[in-house]
Amino acid sequence: MQKAIIVVGPPGAGKGTQAKLIAKKFGYKHISTGDILRGLNRNTELGKKLLSLINKGNFVPPKLAVQITLNHIKANKKVLVLDGFPRNVIQAKLIKNKIEVIKVIAFTGRNSVFKERLIKRGQGRADDTVEVINHRFKVYKTETEPLLKHYGAQIVHKINAEPSIKAIFKEVEKVI
Ligand code: ADP
Repeated sequence: MQKAIIVVGPPGAGKGTQAKLIAKKFGYKHISTGDILRGLNRNTELGKKLLSLINKGNFVPPKLAVQITLNHIKANKKVLVLDGFPRNVIQAKLIKNKIEVIKVIAFTGRNSVFKERLIKRGQGRADDTVEVINHRFKVYKTETEPLLKHYGAQIVHKINAEPSIKAIFKEVEKVI
């Protein structure tokens, strides 16, 4: 079965940055569901519908998120670093027979610290306004955090994501 490491964390924790560093250092393949979804064609009905959900900080329907992400993976020999996927227990159950989750890297820290990063980042993402950021924190808590219990302490590694990129990666390396 296709092996994968999952990277989870609240908005602004830097999971994308760390996922890229892991992929580079260990020769794994980085897959960001958020990037894939943001790249959808807004001239199609489906693209329009999904982008409007994303811009409000809501998830796209689980079956679509799974289908779109799995389409990007296809046949692959490398271990995957899944960034933002699965994002809730429903998605985790949908991929159970297709992907073997060998590790979960869970970033933790204060929302206030992460919020400041997102606002400073100012990438101009439609979901980086204060209201949508607050909503994304709530969605993280109710939808994504239960994944940690779902996968269990044996494979979940919690890492404080408040320090510098370098310092966080040092901790990440230790658990990979
Ligand atoms: P962040 O973690 O900072 O919110 P992401 O790029 O991971 O940034 O996700 C941005 C948005 O993309 C999410 O708020 C959600 O709307 C959508 N998204 C990403 N991954 C998924 C997923 N697995 N299922 C449903 N929606 C997703």
